[in-house]
Amino acid sequence: MAQDILVIGEVEDGAPASVTAELLGAARRLADGGNVSVTLLGAAAAGAADAAFAAGADRAYVGADGAYDEFQPDQWIAAAQAAVEQASPAAVLMAQSGIGRDLAPRLAFRLDSAAAMDCVAVESGDGGFRATRPCYGGNAQATYSFATSPAIATVRAKSQEPLADPHSGAGETVELAAAGESRGTIAGREQAVSEGLQLQDASMVVSGGRGLGGPEGFEVMEALASALGDDKAAVGASRAACDLGWYPVSQQVGLTGKVVTPDLYIAVAISGASQHMAGCSGSKTIVAINRDEEANIFKSARFGVVADYKAVLPPLIEAIKAAG
Ligand SMILES: Cc1cc2nc3c(=O)[nH]c(=O)nc-3n(C[C@H](O)[C@H](O)[C@H](O)COP(=O)(O)OP(=O)(O)OC[C@H]3O[C@@H](n4cnc5c(N)ncnc54)[C@H](O)[C@@H]3O)c2cc1C
Repeated sequence: MAQDILVIGEVEDGAPASVTAELLGAARRLADGGNVSVTLLGAAAAGAADAAFAAGADRAYVGADGAYDEFQPDQWIAAAQAAVEQASPAAVLMAQSGIGRDLAPRLAFRLDSAAAMDCVAVESGDGGFRATRPCYGGNAQATYSFATSPAIATVRAKSQEPLADPHSGAGETVELAAAGESRGTIAGREQAVSEGLQLQDASMVVSGGRGLGGPEGFEVMEALASALGDDKAAVGASRAACDLGWYPVSQQVGLTGKVVTPDLYIAVAISGASQHMAGCSGSKTIVAINRDEEANIFKSARFGVVADYKAVLPPLIEAIKAAG
C-alpha cells in the first residue's frame, strides 16, 4: 500500500550523511509508491537537496539557516514538527545518532505518538508498521507495532541499504522557517580524538580484548588492520581493554561504546559478553580468535579459531600482505 514517509536528514560536508542516504533507500522501499520527503537543516542544506533527491527523496523540507548547524533540540524539533505537519507522513525515520536519539522521543511526545529506538528493520504490512530492534545486549530481537500515527523510528547506521541506482524525477523543495532563538547555548565542544578511519565507517573492524594481555597486543591489532587496508579496517576494543587504558575509549565497541555493523568483525581475545555483543552483533560476518573453546563469542561467530592469538595473528597478517 502506498504511504508517505518522512526522513529527518543530517547534512555532512554539504551532502546528506551516509546514514540519511540509507534511510532514504529504506523510505523508498517502505513508501511502496508513496511520497518520500526529507528534512535538511543548516547552512549547507539547500546544496544537499539534489543529492537527497538522487538518494530517494521526492521532496526536501529545507531550513537553510546556519543556526541549525549546531544541533539544538528546541530548534530542530520545531523544524521536524513543521515538516510532519506539511507532509502528513505515515512514518518518520531518523538515524540512531546523537540527533535522532534526542529528537525521536521529543517528536513522539509532541505528536502524541510513539517512537521505537535503535531499530535494525522497519517494515509495513496489513497491521501497519513494525520495527525490530536488538534487545538483551543483542541476544534477542524485539518487534514493535505502532498503535499511533505517525510511526517514529530511529534506525541504526548500516542496517539499511541506500538505493542502488539514483532515484529518477526532479524533487520539490519546500522552505522551512528560519530557526528561532534557542533556549540553550552550547558552552563548548570537545572532539573525541580518533585518528584515521572511523569505527562506524569501516567495512572491517578488528577488535581486541583483555586477553591481548597489554597495550602491545593492540600494536598487532593495528598491524592486522593495516594489512587489511587503512581505508577499510579500523581497530576496536572491548571495555575491559579500554578500562585498563590499553586503547582509547573512543574505540570501545558495545553497549556503552560504539555500535558497529561492518561486513567483517574480527574479535580477538574477547570473551563475547552480552554488553560487547550489543555493539557488534549486527556485523555481517563475525570471526573469533580465542584460546577458550567455551568462550561465548563462538556462539555468535561464523568462523572461529581456538588458539592463542599470538600464534595466529602474525602468520595471518603475513598471509594477508602476501595476498596483496
Ligand atoms: C553496564 C555495563 C556496560 C558494559 N558495556 C560494555 C561495552 O560497551 N563494551 C564491552 O566490551 N564491554 C562492556 N561491558 C563489560 C562486559 O560485561 C565485559 O566485562 C567485557 O566485555 C569483557 O571484555 P573482554 O572480553 O575483553 O575480557 P574478558 O571477559 O576478560 O575476556 C578475555 C578473553 O580473552 C581470551 N584470551 C585470553 N588470553 C588469550 C590469548 N592469548 N589468545 C586468545 N584468547 C585469549 C579469554 O579466553 C577470554 O575469553 C559492560 C558491562 C556493564 C555491566
